[in-house]
Amino acid sequence: MNERAIVSKTHHVIVGGSIAGVSAAMAMRQSGFDGMVTVVDAEPLLPYEKPPLSKKADPEQAVRPILPEEHYREHGIDLVIGLRVHRLDDEHRRVVLAGGGELPADRVLLTTGVSARRLGTPGEQLDNVHTLRTAADARRVFAGLHRGGPLVVVGGGFIGLEAAAVARTMGIDVTVVEATALPLLGPLGPAVARLMTRLHRDNGVRVISGRTVERYAGHGSVEEVVLAGGERLPAATVVVGVGVVPSDQLAAAVGATVHGGVVVDEYGRTDHPWLWAAGDVASQIHPRTGVRERIEHWDVAMRHGAAVGASMAGRPTINDAAPYFWSDQYGKSLQMFGRERGSDQVVVREGATPERFVAFWLRAGRLAAVAGLDEPKAVRAAKAILDTDAAVAPEVLTDPSTDLRALARRLARPAGSPAQSQPAKT
Ligand SMILES: Cc1cc2nc3c(=O)[nH]c(=O)nc-3n(C[C@H](O)[C@H](O)[C@H](O)COP(=O)(O)OP(=O)(O)OC[C@H]3O[C@@H](n4cnc5c(N)ncnc54)[C@H](O)[C@@H]3O)c2cc1C
Repeated sequence: MNERAIVSKTHHVIVGGSIAGVSAAMAMRQSGFDGMVTVVDAEPLLPYEKPPLSKKADPEQAVRPILPEEHYREHGIDLVIGLRVHRLDDEHRRVVLAGGGELPADRVLLTTGVSARRLGTPGEQLDNVHTLRTAADARRVFAGLHRGGPLVVVGGGFIGLEAAAVARTMGIDVTVVEATALPLLGPLGPAVARLMTRLHRDNGVRVISGRTVERYAGHGSVEEVVLAGGERLPAATVVVGVGVVPSDQLAAAVGATVHGGVVVDEYGRTDHPWLWAAGDVASQIHPRTGVRERIEHWDVAMRHGAAVGASMAGRPTINDAAPYFWSDQYGKSLQMFGRERGSDQVVVREGATPERFVAFWLRAGRLAAVAGLDEPKAVRAAKAILDTDAAVAPEVLTDPSTDLRALARRLARPAGSPAQSQPAKT
C-alpha cells in the first residue's frame, strides 16, 4: 500500500469482503470516488459467492470468486484478506486489525454480514457437527457426505434444506428436524411451506417437525442425534441451520445503535458519523416494505451495498428494488420477490404441485410478494404486477388462464386509469 497516498487521499475502509462490501467498493469507483478504497476480510480467499456453497456436492466447484483478482487492481481497490478487523478506533479514525496492524480511515463501511447461530446443545463440539456459512464449512460438510450417510439436518431453513437436497441426490439417507410445525414456515408461511415439505418427502427425506434436539452423542465424532423425548437418529454428519447472528459487535463497541443488526438510515448511515453499514448486517427500513428489518438475500446485499457505496462516494442512492431471493433444491429453483407477513392473504395458483407452483401474498388488496417453484416466467410477470402497486383480485392471480404479463402491462397504465383504482379482472 502506498503510504503517501494514505496521508493525502480520502480513504474508505470496507470491513467485510463479500457481496455487499465488493458491490460497495465497485459502486464507489463507478460514482467517481478517486480516494483510496480498501476491503478487509477475515477469510483467506478472494471474495467469493456464498449461495453455491449449499447447492453443490463438489465444494471446489462451489467456491466461485465474485470478481477476478485483476478487477480489483484495475479499479484501484486494495484487498486485505485473511485478516480480521479487531477494533474500530473512532477517536483516531483507525481500523485496527488482528495482529496490531492499522488502517487510517476517513469513512468505514461495515459489511460484516452474519454468523451461524449456535444453540449450545450438548455435544455440539463433536466432529462432523457443522454449520454451513463459509467455503471451509462447505468443504467439511461435503467431505463428510462423500464418506457416506446418514445426514441429519437440524433446522428446516433454506441452507439446511439445500444441503438435504444435495445429499439425497448423492443417495444419502437424510432426516430434517424442525422445531416449528413445518420447515420454511417462517420465511414462506404454511401454504408454501407445506408444498416445499412435500417436495422433500417425495424425494425421500424424513421430515420430523415440532421437535427439538436434546443432544448430540458420539465418541469424538457424532454418531447420533438425540431428540427431546428420547428418539435417537443415527448420524454420520449433522448440519445445524438454526438461524444467524448479525456480526454487529464492531459497531456496538463504538456506540453506534445496534438493534438486531446495525441500525442504518435509507442511505446506509449509522448514527455514528464515521460509520456506515450495508448488506445482511444492516437493519434498514426497506422502502418496499416500510418495516425495519435485516434481509438475508444475496441480491439485496448486492443492491444495498452498491447503493450505500454510491452514497458514501457523494451520490446519495436508495435501493428500492423489490427484495429478491432464490433457492435451488432437487434441480428446481424457488424464486421469491417481496416479503411475506403472517397477516397477508396467501393464495396459490390453481394446479399447484410440490414440483411446480406459484403463490401470491396480498396485503390491503395489493400484491406484496410472489414465489414460484420452477415458474420463472410467472414469477417475473408477477413481479411486474407487484411493481405497479395496483389493486388486484386474488382470483385473477390464481386463475391459470390469466396472462400475468398482459395483466402487468394493463396495471402499469398511468395513475388514474380504472385499472389502478379497481381490483383488476381478467
Ligand atoms: C450457504 C449459503 C447459501 C446461501 N444461498 C442463498 C441463495 O440461494 N439465495 C440468496 O438470496 N441468498 C443466499 N444466501 C445468503 C447470501 O449469501 C447473503 O445474503 C449474502 O452473502 C450477504 O452478503 P454480505 O456481504 O452482507 O455478508 P456475508 O456474505 O455474510 O459476508 C460478510 C463478510 O464479512 C467478513 N467479516 C465479518 N466480520 C469481520 C471482521 N471483524 N473483520 C474482517 N472481516 C469480517 C466475513 O468473513 C464475511 O466474508 C446464502 C448464504 C449462505 C451462507
